[in-house]
Amino acid sequence: MLATLEYTLAVVAVFLVLGYFRLPILAWTLAAAALLWYLGVVAAFGYGTNIVLAAVFVAVAAVLNIPILRRKAFTDHVLALYRRILPDMSSTEKEAIDAGSVWWDADLFSGRPDWNKLLAIPAPRLSAEEQAFLDGPVEELCAMCNDWEITHERQDLPPQVWQFIKDKGFLGMIIPKRYGGLGFSALAHSAVVMKLSTRSGAAAISVMVPNSLGPAELLLHYGTEEQKNHYLPRLARGLEVPCFALTNPEAGSDAASIPDYGIVCKGTWQGREMLGMRVTWDKRYITLGPVATLLGLAFRLYDPEKLLGGKEDLGITCALVPTNTAGVNIGRRHLPLNQVFQNGPNSGKDVFMPLDWIIGGPEYAGKGWMMLMGCLAAGRAISLPTSSVGGVKALTRFTGAYARVRSQFKTPIGRLEGVEEALGRIAAHCYMMDATRVMTAGAVDLGEKPAVLSAIAKYHMTERARACVNDAMDIHGGKGICLGPNNWVGRGYQMTPIAITVEGANILTRTLIIFGQGAIRAHPYVLREMRAAKEMQGAEASREFDDAITSHIGHVISNGVRAFVHGITSSRLAHTPRNAAPETVHYYRFTSRLSAAFAFLADLSMLAMGGALKRKEKISGRLGDVLSMLYLVSATLKRYEDQGRIREDLPLIRWAVRDALYHAQQAIDQILSNFPVKPLARFLRWTLFPLGMSFRPPLDSRNHECAKIALEPGAARDRLTAGMYVPKGEDATGVLEAAFIAAIACEPIDEKLRKAVKKGKIVPRPGVDLGSLAKENNLITAEEYAQWSRKEALRKSVIRVDDFPQDFGRAEIVQSLSPAKARAA
Ligand SMILES: Cc1cc2nc3c(=O)[nH]c(=O)nc-3n(C[C@H](O)[C@H](O)[C@H](O)COP(=O)(O)OP(=O)(O)OC[C@H]3O[C@@H](n4cnc5c(N)ncnc54)[C@H](O)[C@@H]3O)c2cc1C
Repeated sequence: MLATLEYTLAVVAVFLVLGYFRLPILAWTLAAAALLWYLGVVAAFGYGTNIVLAAVFVAVAAVLNIPILRRKAFTDHVLALYRRILPDMSSTEKEAIDAGSVWWDADLFSGRPDWNKLLAIPAPRLSAEEQAFLDGPVEELCAMCNDWEITHERQDLPPQVWQFIKDKGFLGMIIPKRYGGLGFSALAHSAVVMKLSTRSGAAAISVMVPNSLGPAELLLHYGTEEQKNHYLPRLARGLEVPCFALTNPEAGSDAASIPDYGIVCKGTWQGREMLGMRVTWDKRYITLGPVATLLGLAFRLYDPEKLLGGKEDLGITCALVPTNTAGVNIGRRHLPLNQVFQNGPNSGKDVFMPLDWIIGGPEYAGKGWMMLMGCLAAGRAISLPTSSVGGVKALTRFTGAYARVRSQFKTPIGRLEGVEEALGRIAAHCYMMDATRVMTAGAVDLGEKPAVLSAIAKYHMTERARACVNDAMDIHGGKGICLGPNNWVGRGYQMTPIAITVEGANILTRTLIIFGQGAIRAHPYVLREMRAAKEMQGAEASREFDDAITSHIGHVISNGVRAFVHGITSSRLAHTPRNAAPETVHYYRFTSRLSAAFAFLADLSMLAMGGALKRKEKISGRLGDVLSMLYLVSATLKRYEDQGRIREDLPLIRWAVRDALYHAQQAIDQILSNFPVKPLARFLRWTLFPLGMSFRPPLDSRNHECAKIALEPGAARDRLTAGMYVPKGEDATGVLEAAFIAAIACEPIDEKLRKAVKKGKIVPRPGVDLGSLAKENNLITAEEYAQWSRKEALRKSVIRVDDFPQDFGRAEIVQSLSPAKARAA
């Protein structure tokens, strides 16, 4: 009995050690040989049995260790089965999967992230020239923008703002200097968009779009020399305003199915007979469309007469169409949630255009989807993550200030616990979001086109912005609801769903892209197996598949063992970086543990559900959530190191990391609760959480510290909101900032007044302010009274909301119109 127990323990220990260290098959074989010998000794089987066991062992070991035998006996059969069950992929699906590159996501998928590698990457930095642009033209542009004037009065950017944007090169930030552009890094591009987003959504979007997925980006990667030389300098100087039109009323998320089409045919162009294409399209939601001079157009190109000599259905094609071309209908506008950046439909019927309008020329006919997916992988990393971070920086600064200026129950509302809870959340999200923005833009500057990580950044930054703006609205109460020049949150609240919807609507991004693409691209073996099965034949396929699948099996066992070992040791053995800061080292351990758990769970989910996992979006969405949380935590920990371990910021890191780890754990819990194969779900729960679910939500005390950062002027608040436009002067947010500083400076005087009232030294009188009563009674000096009065004036200005004539000024507008127009109005 004792011997059996000992033997079982030895088997378990050997399994755990081999699995934990992911030793090769030979090591497993030697260990199995030793265990077999030990079994022979313990069980005293006798000579004959020992010989039989040894023979069986040698046969199995030979099959496992000699690749040719292993392939014939095992992996070739698996390959045949795999080929049968692997669903066929359309060329658009394949191009989407292949698009972009893999970076830190591969480490997270490996189950053993290499923290030293991550921390060795230098902190992304702006060049002196980029910083000067931010401090100069960007600051100036922000000061020129008055959001109420733009969104309500003009419903467009003022002409001088448009001109400034064009003249200073804002539309050509990604265009290299040799074409007259600013040639900025992704980090600088992101910093510009972020700063503008803290001031005017319309200005930020108008600048963001030409620098994102669109004509310039496509030309840079795929344009012919002639196209680049013609268009890039014009785009850089704002002589062309570009837009990119993909979305059709019938095809939004499923953009590859656009019904817009072009037919290759002969026609006449500028008096010359030539081979061209006759294009018909109907697009909507196109940003900058109404003012664009250059329309980037996506359509499906057909060549029914085979004039180009190849296939009939050439596929999605991207062309550049000057909007003054006869037959182009453009100029009408949509009104996206009261945001007034230019956005609208456009269409054309049988518009003839030369083939060399195709981006890249006729050889790129049909390659549009590959071009779009490749550019999207990088572009998505900047625009919407960045504008969301800008929005949240502004919310952090303004909401913190307002919560300190606005008092109820004789207390600044930011000190009331319910408000503090919401404010602390905003501040901590702000830190994590900015960390993610910088790390993702930094990846693009390292030459990556991080397809999965950009989807994570897009989804989670926009969702966090939505959570933060909801919190900010609650904190502002009625002040946030009544629109007008004195409302700095309402427009942000209105526009949040726009970022959620564009560049891959969020539900789809979460459920299809983050895990769906990640599981194939970022997984160390799945893509190799798929390529061996679908793109290779004969011995080459057999060798490649054998190598990938055996490594894959080792990877699964190792991750399962490590997830279990980390579970029973509270992550004490989990991998951490060299010289980790003692105050954050446990977060690396927890993340390594969850990375192993995630990798194991991802593999077993794919094994249990196969191709059906793609349709099980509730499961794949949650798997995506786990991967995303691990990425957000990585970015946060890296930022702490990159900024030199600033201890003052620790509450933000602690809250944000703990919150993300808790959410990752909850996502795993929900996957297991809904896992279709119940016995496997039980096994997984036992392996991943052997001692129960140990991650807890952030503590209230941390939340208090985070809120305090937003409520106190100083370095921590400035660092948290760094890179935003800090308002000066007379407009509403400038007054708010001044009121905030004045409120804090006056707190000792307010305290004197409070005590004086309590002790009966002054008796409040209706219509007389406490300050003058205190001054009359010599309880405060004349200077203190002046300081207090200024603070009160600023406070009153801050809490004021806008009101309008009963007809919202319509009569005044009608009066200014010509009599005919006035009658019509
Ligand atoms: C203000 C604005 C600006 C835009 N700018 C441009 C532009 O410049 N150029 C351009 O070409 N397009 C632009 N778009 C279009 C934008 O990219 C699309 O709105 C977006 O792709 C979603 O398409 P849809 O609105 O038709 O939603 P639908 O495709 O109808 O989707 C509706 C919902 O279903 C979800 N969904 C769809 N498929 C799946 C799935 N398989 N699994 C799970 N959920 C799914 C989506 O996530 C979404 O929540 C813009 C849109 C807006 C609103």
